[in-house]
Amino acid sequence: MNYYSLNNNAPKVTFEDAVIKGLAPDRGLYFPEEITSLPQSFFENIENLDNVEIAYQAIQQFVGDEIPEVELKDILEDVLSFDFPVIEIEENIASLELFHGPTMAFKDVGARFMARCLGYFNRENENHVTVLVATSGDTGGAVANGFLGVKGVDVVILYPTGKVSAIQEKQLTTLGQNITALEVDGVFDDCQEMVKTAFLDKSITDFKQLTSANSINIARWLPQLFYFLFAYKQVKHKGKDITFSVPSGNFGNICAGIVAHKLGLPVKHFIASTNINDTVVRYLKTSEYNPKPSKATISNAMDVGNPSNFIRIQKLFNNNFEELKTSFSAYSFNDTQTKDAMQKVYSDTGYITDPHGAVGYLGLKKKGLNGSDYGIFLETAHPVKFLDTVEETIDTTVEIPSQIQKIINKKKKSIAIDSYENLKEFLLK
Ligand SMILES: *Cc1c(COP(=O)(O)O)cnc(C)c1O
Repeated sequence: MNYYSLNNNAPKVTFEDAVIKGLAPDRGLYFPEEITSLPQSFFENIENLDNVEIAYQAIQQFVGDEIPEVELKDILEDVLSFDFPVIEIEENIASLELFHGPTMAFKDVGARFMARCLGYFNRENENHVTVLVATSGDTGGAVANGFLGVKGVDVVILYPTGKVSAIQEKQLTTLGQNITALEVDGVFDDCQEMVKTAFLDKSITDFKQLTSANSINIARWLPQLFYFLFAYKQVKHKGKDITFSVPSGNFGNICAGIVAHKLGLPVKHFIASTNINDTVVRYLKTSEYNPKPSKATISNAMDVGNPSNFIRIQKLFNNNFEELKTSFSAYSFNDTQTKDAMQKVYSDTGYITDPHGAVGYLGLKKKGLNGSDYGIFLETAHPVKFLDTVEETIDTTVEIPSQIQKIINKKKKSIAIDSYENLKEFLLK
């Protein structure tokens, strides 16, 4: 399978090159040349397939012959070693829990898939890469965990000092081996800026193959389409029309859901649910795309002012605004509404949502469902990852799962930096 740049000013590349490069040389996002629907029989028979087989059938065309069937299935087996349950919390409203992986946020699947693809491409030790990533919290942990011990890959994570939760910091600073955490004296935007500067700095890139591990990378973005298929497998027998509500920041997850729809997955409607960082919500109202700097919220993984994957969503709807609006809605909610929803869901049903999941739940309520609809919101992180907010909001204590227990007493190791020069020095040493 070939990929082209959505800026249309760079050569087409293979899956392997797209994964290794991350971003095209013209700064555009890579996009598959073709998306071919899966046969009807795949959906008719999906409840008889295990998750690895479903994932293999869905991702195979995007990988092509660059990873042979046996190796690709091994990779998927390894990546998908935990559950993705759909939990009904009200009549016809369910939570798709994506937090049962090692770092308890949905980014585990994409990070692990990307890591194993790079590991495969480096099997003869000739494609050494350095993954450089800025994180506001969840990405760092998932990438550190997913890439730990992968041969031929060094990972450098930049995070803003004092701005990530205690658990998130442990997840990205305690692993060692091929993972280094750089603690930046600044905010997330400063980390992001340094990473972008490094990607454009020839004095580094002449010497090192840098790649990114956020959802602009196709190997982190595309496997997220599995979630929507796994959900369908579980609720298909209800015979209802499915609407997905996806808590969205960079819009990679929902964009992957739309790819699943292109593959033939029956979905009635997609809802992008956001916090007050509402660039896409405003776009759907006015048809003007006018990004703004991000504002801090309690659902901080969605504090994104200029969602990088929205351009892919537009492409999936043939850059046609009317077509987009028919099957895609976006709503924004503030922190007060989010906390009210967390409280209401907990008191009515006993179910604990994290702030991101609660925003997803609100999206379903706002859209409104009728008797033949089934609404699924994506629970993108375990409530424990936002422990203080969750405990304070619903006035109860949350049990700490074993994945988190294990790292809580580990020793933090990071290197403090306060300028781009420090980063450059580190990368060139
Ligand atoms: C990253 C993240 C999101 C946003 O996902 P996008 O693909 O960037 O839209 C939502 N919730 C949680 C918990 C996250 O970590």
